[in-house]
Amino acid sequence: MICLYCHGRIDVELNLLNMFSKTKRICQSCHLKLTGWRSGVRCARCHRIMHAAEKECRDCIFISSRFTPVRSIRCLLDYNSEVKMMMHRYKFVRDIALAEVMAGFIDIKEWQYDHIVPIPVSEHRLEERGFNQITEVLKRSRTAYTELLATDKVKLQSERSKAERIDSDNPFSFDAGEKDVKILDKRILIVDDIYTTGITVHHAAETIMQRNPSSVDVLTFSKA
Ligand SMILES: [Zn+2]
Ligand SMILES: [Zn+2]
Repeated sequence: MICLYCHGRIDVELNLLNMFSKTKRICQSCHLKLTGWRSGVRCARCHRIMHAAEKECRDCIFISSRFTPVRSIRCLLDYNSEVKMMMHRYKFVRDIALAEVMAGFIDIKEWQYDHIVPIPVSEHRLEERGFNQITEVLKRSRTAYTELLATDKVKLQSERSKAERIDSDNPFSFDAGEKDVKILDKRILIVDDIYTTGITVHHAAETIMQRNPSSVDVLTFSKA
């Protein structure tokens, strides 16, 4: 078999047990590089590496001052140098084959949620990139998702200053299209690609919370 990430050979004897296993799609060495976590004291909630003098995570303090925090934030991969490179290749070099690599790390227990909701990509960005970097991964991991949010945000988060991000109004609106979707008392999982300050997912959560779900959790592919 060929590693989907480095394209090197994987010397595994195929048998009925591992034939369909997701984790075998990349070689051991790539697996180790992508799953390594940088050392440091982390925030138990958002997983950010905190500074020595920080007692409480300042990002989480800010989020709870401005938003109703989501119930939990789960992060699949650390934003280590390899993951950073992979994300860059995936999103900006548009190497869509990497969606398959990331799909191998998805382990959502679908029965725990009523709706798995991806963060939307603006029309403009979709046109430019050619794909939605989140739904592409969900599709390849065969995770059923419901698109419930729309955005017309044009600028990338990384192109905006922190103040600009905070001051900007919520870029998301509720848009279930033709679908008849109930949110009241439902368990929601929001999926994003990279959790930075948490403002994006909490704006999305705010839009969903207006409809009184029973819980909102977040899954992010990586934590910057
Ligand atoms: Zn490899
Ligand atoms: Zn935090």
